[in-house]
Formats: sequence, structure tokens, C-alpha cells
Amino acid sequence: MLTKTKIYLSSPHMGGTEQKFINEAFDTNWIAPLGPNVNGFEDDIKNYLGNDKHIAALSSGTSAIHIALELLNVSKGDEVLCQSFTFSASANPIIYQGATPVFVDSERDTWNISPELLEIAIKDRIEKHKKPKAIIAVHLYGMPYKADEINAIANKYEIPVIEDSAEAFGSYYRNQPCGTLSNMAILSFNGNKIITTSGGGAIIVNNKDLKDKAVFLSTQARDNAPHYQHSTVGYNYRMSNVLAGIGRGQMEVLDKRVESRRKNYDFYRSNLSKYNSISFLNEPDGYFSNRWLTCIVTDSFEMREQIRLALLKEDIESRPLWKPMHTQPVFKDCIHFTNGVSESLFDKGLCLPSGSNLTQQDLDRILNIILKSPYL
Ligand SMILES: *Cc1c(COP(=O)(O)O)cnc(C)c1O
Repeated sequence: MLTKTKIYLSSPHMGGTEQKFINEAFDTNWIAPLGPNVNGFEDDIKNYLGNDKHIAALSSGTSAIHIALELLNVSKGDEVLCQSFTFSASANPIIYQGATPVFVDSERDTWNISPELLEIAIKDRIEKHKKPKAIIAVHLYGMPYKADEINAIANKYEIPVIEDSAEAFGSYYRNQPCGTLSNMAILSFNGNKIITTSGGGAIIVNNKDLKDKAVFLSTQARDNAPHYQHSTVGYNYRMSNVLAGIGRGQMEVLDKRVESRRKNYDFYRSNLSKYNSISFLNEPDGYFSNRWLTCIVTDSFEMREQIRLALLKEDIESRPLWKPMHTQPVFKDCIHFTNGVSESLFDKGLCLPSGSNLTQQDLDRILNIILKSPYL
């Protein structure tokens, strides 16, 4: 008898040429956090995003956010505004710097940082003589945030935006790729992201000096001297040349991966949107999401849990939407500006299996379990 295999939420999906690049690294003994694959991978990303951008490949998306905060001189006692509806890695580096996160809730159209609340938060903090040093905005689940509105506010108060594009490589906002919508952005190549290096990330900046500074800080901040000399504290955050080889192979299939993930979304949506108790996140005009994860919003916590547990029983992984940072025990004392949007999404929302390697059989298996929900 055929045993059913486990279906994951989002699993790595190799394109085929990754091992060729890894073998090159071995053949040439470039087994180090620098080398031709690192340079090649950075060039591939640059070609994809546009040649006015400068990219440094790092060990993770989290380290990229940390370096971005360093480049903006965020330090002890500073406040940084951060989208509350996100993964904890968006906010943790603020704490690494001894700074304090101030969380801002989402709006309903994109589920990302609310321009209205953002401005309220900025005014409040300025009034209290705590002008924020940076804004971390996130393209959650691949859906671009309202970049025009956010950038207008950021410019008005002269606060730089760090664009957390960890989940949105391959997404576009008004024909501009995510990762290029502000002066500083980050990507993640963790195992569950749209393309992966098994673990990795990148920072995207506007000029070569900033890139050089990012690389300097990520490689232990060595001064120019024959011995090891350091004038600032550095980090060991550079990407390995072996892993960058995986990235080069993955860049060849990024567009295909976006296509597959969008197909998953279309499948779920075309089969489930007729039920009033299930809704989807639509693309507003001018927005193009890579549909990293397909999310549904159900009618109630009970319905969400029923579907999640029914899938789990059949060895299918699904996951509640991100738990807002302002409700996380670790951030419970942080100031926050909220409107109920992210808490409601967390309560009723579920991420469905969304890997680019799902088969039609997998999708049918998932759908049939959801269709049996007594809540539909
Ligand atoms: C994955 C992710 C990160 C962190 O990336 P890592 O490479 O896992 O460190 C940051 N922000 C968001 C929104 C993410 O989903």
C-alpha cells in the first residue's frame, strides 16, 4: 500500500545546477566566506534588482537587518519603529543594538505596516523627544507594503526605512522589485524562503561605499594592516562560498518558483473563495506578490484550529499567521500603536502548504481535507 508522505509548509526546491557551482567551489578550494560564488551570486541579485543597487551576501536575513541598523548608526537608547505583524527576526536585531523597538500595527489591504498608525507613532515619539532612528517595514508573505505612502511619511520626518524583503524576493510594487523600494533592504535565503542557500541573506544598498562598509563589518572589521587590527567591533556574518553556489543555481529558477507559488494561490483561491467563511489577501492594483505563502482567513479561531488540526492528522503542515510582536512575551513591555488588525489575523488566519514543489496530487489532498470542514 502507498503510504502518504508528509507535506511541508514550504520546503527547499533545488533547480538542478546548484551542485555544479558547489563542485566548482570544491575543485578550486574556495571553501571560505568569500570567493567567486559569493561575487557571482551578488552579481546575479544585482542583475535581477537593477544595476544601481549594491549587494552584500551575508549569513542570514537576520544578520542583514543587524548590519543595516549598524549602517544607520542605531545604538543604545535609540528607538526603532517596526511592523508588529512579522517574524521575530525583523525586530530582534534592534535589541542586539541595545535599542528599543516600538511596534506599529497593520492595515487591511496588504496586512503590512499602516501608514496612518506609522505617522501617529512618529508624532507621538517626537513629542516625547524620542524621534525614531529607523523604520522597519515588511513585505509579509510576499505582499508589498504601501511603499509610496510609507516613503512619503519617512521622507517628511526624515527617518530612513529598512525594507524587510525576506519573504518578498520576486515580488513587485508598481513594476519595481521588492528590495529596491527604499535606500536599504534585506533578503533571506533561509530554507523555507522562495529561494534558498540553506541559510543566508543579503543586504541591498545604494552605493559601493555602503556595500564595502557592510562587508567590512561582516568580516570582523579588520583595519588595513598586515597584522589583525580592529578599531570597531565587527561581526562574522559573510556568506560562505559553498552556500553562495546554491544561491547561483537558485537564481536561475527564481521566476519559475514565483510562478509555481502563484499557481498554488490560484488553486486554493479558485476552489475556496466561494465559501463566505474563507477569505484571501487580494493584490491591490499595481501590486505583484510572489505568494510566498498562501494564507486564508477563516471566520473564527475555532474554524482555523479545526482545519489546522485536520491537516496535521494527515501529516500536512500548516501554520497560524505570524503572532504580532506586541503580543509576544519577549516584547511585552514595548510601546505599541495598534488597531486590532494583526491580532485578528493571528486569531483566524492560517498559512497553507505553499512550496513550489507541491504536486497537483498534494494540492488535491490538502483541498479535500479543507472541504470537509464542518465550518464551511
Ligand atoms: C525569514 C525572515 C527573516 C530572517 O531571515 P533569516 O535568513 O531566517 O535570518 C526576517 N524577516 C522576515 C519577515 C522573515 O520572514
